[in-house]
Amino acid sequence: MNTIREHLESVREQIAAAESAAGRPAGSVRLLAVSKTFPAEDVAEAFACGQTCFGENRVQELASKVPALPGTIEWHLIGSLQSNKAAKAAALASWIHSVDSEKLVRKISAAADSLGKTVNILFEVNSGEENKTGFRSADDLRASLEAALALPGIQVRGLMTMAPLGSDETTLHRVFASLRAQRDALEQEFGVKLPELSMGMSGDFREAIAEGATIVRIGTAIFGGRQSLLK
Ligand SMILES: *Cc1c(COP(=O)(O)O)cnc(C)c1O
Repeated sequence: MNTIREHLESVREQIAAAESAAGRPAGSVRLLAVSKTFPAEDVAEAFACGQTCFGENRVQELASKVPALPGTIEWHLIGSLQSNKAAKAAALASWIHSVDSEKLVRKISAAADSLGKTVNILFEVNSGEENKTGFRSADDLRASLEAALALPGIQVRGLMTMAPLGSDETTLHRVFASLRAQRDALEQEFGVKLPELSMGMSGDFREAIAEGATIVRIGTAIFGGRQSLLK
């Protein structure tokens, strides 16, 4: 069986190859290791191989791992977030990828501000019927961005999406290119920089990198298959 180290090396090589194939500079894509459902020991092993940012999709699991692991780890919350857990998320994570309402923006801002920290946020865009998370309306997204730009404690860094499960190549490229186009349009309209595009998982990160991903969120290809029913 391959080790976490071997998996990480392989994923890094594939990311580098995809960057090069897309004519993008080496190192322009950041690897976020998605450790949900895997124990802290596995995170520690990946950390020992030089991996410093990790993604979790549940606040509860994040809360159990953060204190058990080195303080230099950069934690990203990537799973859908209920607003009653926003304060806890803001305390634990330095990035939240799954912001999908103005209410959430306000809760994260208030919590981060009271802690004296700045949380990097990404707005999640819904890219498929079966996905329940993410903004479905461009107007809601615009209004939330406008609100967020005026609030303390948060910095809007860009957009995030998940391609619909089982998408073919063409659909993947369309979904990822569309996120980039939405980002470009928002940058123009609001006169701000939204440098990050969080898109691409174990099965589709090559397509995402071809379309401009700056953060790929990879779990299975590093840690192996998840047993848990909790996706
Ligand atoms: C689980 C998860 C991932 C990683 O998925 P893999 O297919 O295991 O790489 C990425 N993004 C989100 C939001 C996730 O919940």
